[in-house]
Amino acid sequence: MQSKNVYIKIALPIAIDQLFTYQLKSYQNESNLIGRRALVSFANRSLTGVIVDYDGNPSSDYVIKEVTELIDDEPIFDASVIKLCSWIAEYYMASLGETLKAALPQGMSPKTIIKANILPHIENDAFEAFFKNSPKRKELFDVLKNQNKAVSVGTLQKKLRTASVSQFLTKLEEFGLIEFKEVETKRVKAKKMKTVRFESQYFSDDEKYLELLKQAEKKSPQRLKLLEMLYEMSQSGIGKVLYKELLNYFSAPTINSLKKLNVISIELEEVDRNDFNKPVNSLARTNEFELKLTDEQAIATNAIVSAMNKEEFKTFLLHGVTGSGKTLVYIQTIHECLKKGKTALLLVPEISLTPQLIDRFEKVFSGEIAVIHSRMSDGDRYDAWRKARSNRARIVIGARSAIFAPLQNLGLIIVDEEHEASYKQESPNPRYNARDTAIVRASFESAVVVLGSATPSFESYYNAQIKRYELLQILSRADGAKMPQVKAIDTISAGKSGQILGTFSKEMLDQIISRIEKHEGIILFQNRRGFASFLECPDCAEVPTCKNCSVTLVYHKTSNQLRCHYCGYTAKAHRFCVRCGYPNMSEVGTGTQRIEDELNEFLLSNEIDASIERMDLDTTKLKGSHRAMLERFSEGRTDILLGTQMVAKGIDFERVTLVGVVNADIQLFLPDFRAGERTLQLLLQVSGRAGRSSSKSGEVLIQTAHPNNPAIIHALEDDYIGFYHKEIIYRKNALYPPYSRFCMIEFTSEDDNQLTTAVKHFIFGFPRSEKYIVLGPVLPTISKIRGRYRRLIIIKDIKEFDQNGNHIRSAIKKAVENYNKKKFAKVKFTVDIDTYQNV
Ligand code: ADP
Ligand code: ZN
Repeated sequence: MQSKNVYIKIALPIAIDQLFTYQLKSYQNESNLIGRRALVSFANRSLTGVIVDYDGNPSSDYVIKEVTELIDDEPIFDASVIKLCSWIAEYYMASLGETLKAALPQGMSPKTIIKANILPHIENDAFEAFFKNSPKRKELFDVLKNQNKAVSVGTLQKKLRTASVSQFLTKLEEFGLIEFKEVETKRVKAKKMKTVRFESQYFSDDEKYLELLKQAEKKSPQRLKLLEMLYEMSQSGIGKVLYKELLNYFSAPTINSLKKLNVISIELEEVDRNDFNKPVNSLARTNEFELKLTDEQAIATNAIVSAMNKEEFKTFLLHGVTGSGKTLVYIQTIHECLKKGKTALLLVPEISLTPQLIDRFEKVFSGEIAVIHSRMSDGDRYDAWRKARSNRARIVIGARSAIFAPLQNLGLIIVDEEHEASYKQESPNPRYNARDTAIVRASFESAVVVLGSATPSFESYYNAQIKRYELLQILSRADGAKMPQVKAIDTISAGKSGQILGTFSKEMLDQIISRIEKHEGIILFQNRRGFASFLECPDCAEVPTCKNCSVTLVYHKTSNQLRCHYCGYTAKAHRFCVRCGYPNMSEVGTGTQRIEDELNEFLLSNEIDASIERMDLDTTKLKGSHRAMLERFSEGRTDILLGTQMVAKGIDFERVTLVGVVNADIQLFLPDFRAGERTLQLLLQVSGRAGRSSSKSGEVLIQTAHPNNPAIIHALEDDYIGFYHKEIIYRKNALYPPYSRFCMIEFTSEDDNQLTTAVKHFIFGFPRSEKYIVLGPVLPTISKIRGRYRRLIIIKDIKEFDQNGNHIRSAIKKAVENYNKKKFAKVKFTVDIDTYQNV
């Protein structure tokens, strides 16, 4: 094949929305460069970019740099993922390079490492001349000489203050001064482990097997046991096992003795990290595939399957109350999807990516699933990604970033709990919403999307109302279980009549005791972790605040510290007031930790023997702790599961008959037009954990100081739809989503004056139009974070006039252009389209 120079366009992971042309010299095979990563030098840095196009007509105005190194041997992005990323970059106003970077599992961004060996040489005239021509060569040589360990290309570039070292390296090598001992790329690699294979004749031929047994009987009872174990495994179709696993039961000599007899082979093999640490205990109740669908489930399933049969893009909204068996609809439709030879993607919010959910799917589709989430190690995530890429896993289950899963021939995308705000990436770029992106991906790949929720977002419910999505409803619980009784406890009036003990009403405590006596499960929900929220002086009302941010410091009792949850600043918590000297600061607000203490004390003083476990971000950090906690609770070894949102989602245990919401008001008064919607969603979700059994009824108690708030009233009546119809009128009048596209431009600076001028200038350059409303500068509730002052511009982009957001994007671009004409060096800004952030 002829070799020639190839010009390619590369997307770099920087905030510049532009592609850059590089060249590959004497490249032999140009057929599949697109989708491969390349290391290049850019503005004195070395960056990993992705080749997204060829440049047939490269500019001759400047020297086109060479690619430092081609990283992949074959594309790691398909054209379809690149197309999706291009859409995200365009819509959310990020660069394509930033977006492609977000699409790869972390740990796959490589750093090229160079190990150069200095060869023996004589320093003569030629040597001197060689360096005289280029001082950089000498410099590089000296750096390498003093370097006894591997060094990255980036480091060399920095040391030499040059954009490209490859030419110098090559020269040194040609001259015989160095030798590349190894040019390796540091990144996650496939893992290899010693694997024992025993697909040998001995286990298929009974005579041979018996002979082996006889031999072993005499020589070693251990070997006999090992043979029996392997035989059993081979009978159930298993042909290999990890050496390490066998070592749990047998000594190395025993295992090796079979190797000597050629009964087994031991080899280093590539393995999937995910295949280990497989739980022994399962949290799945049954293999749900065997359940018979209820009528409502069947209608929903059929509608989705027939849409898949048409192989056309279509979006469904599956509104199914908690416990209605949405999961079974997912299972059935995924099954049908695989039967057609296609692949399926199930997105779930990080927080409901519980061990129980995964077990339920594993039970039906064992071995077909790759799970991707943020708490995995880089290696695990890389393996899951590879498994999907190579079609060994035809189902991907994952949180937000799994929308980029490298599945081919995609037939179905399910977005469970589609209302969850965590589908929106807040920072950094691209600030995409995985739910909305799912719909776009499906439309590109002619796939079907199912958005599922017991409490759909108003945006999605609205889209179903105007028939943009097809609405599927499951309004009764699946297996004969009844919706729980829900009751509000007015904490103000209970307090006045002496019916409150600390944080709990007497009524709630009575109910808790009665469940403990019956050995039924109790879930308590408090949407705030830690101990008290903050300290306050009862005398002068002093509240300790962060010195970098305009927020109160959170009180952590165990460490006796005050901590800022925004910047990490910590200070010692004093008992006395630092302002007026009052000796006893009071603890205000209540987190899960404080509730646990309080409840334990109460139970102890009433001589009630019960165990409480707290489940929140602080107690589930260790690998496996989350699962173990759920197992103890499901088996009845724990009476009370107390926690934050983690207990509100996706837990399905029959023994739970009481759900207590300790304080329903935490969400209610946030500066957020979605506060009511969010409160209702959370209350309905957490209530849904109760009464999952057909034989025991469930009860939900909600403590609130605002029992007449519409969100609370509708939660009591389990009336999502009624609340929607009320709220949507207000949203329409105020032009909030779904009637507008809500965008936020955030400006920050350490210099408050420059910030003020900059924001004004930005607004000044914003083209006027009837199609959107620009509000600002807005001083946010938290006006300073990490020592940087903040200002916002809020945009309501009216959907009726700007369907795809083209107008607002071009307006923002124009404003940015005008803004960039002046230099506000100390000011930074970010653009968040379809924002979910509080003001
Ligand atoms: P959702 O996800 O809608 O809240 P789940 O999928 O968790 O509901 O279902 C609730 C319970 O009902 C689960 O234990 C599930 O196994 C059971 N279930 C679902 N569908 C059926 C059915 N058709 N027959 C019997 N049990 C069912
Ligand atoms: Zn702070």
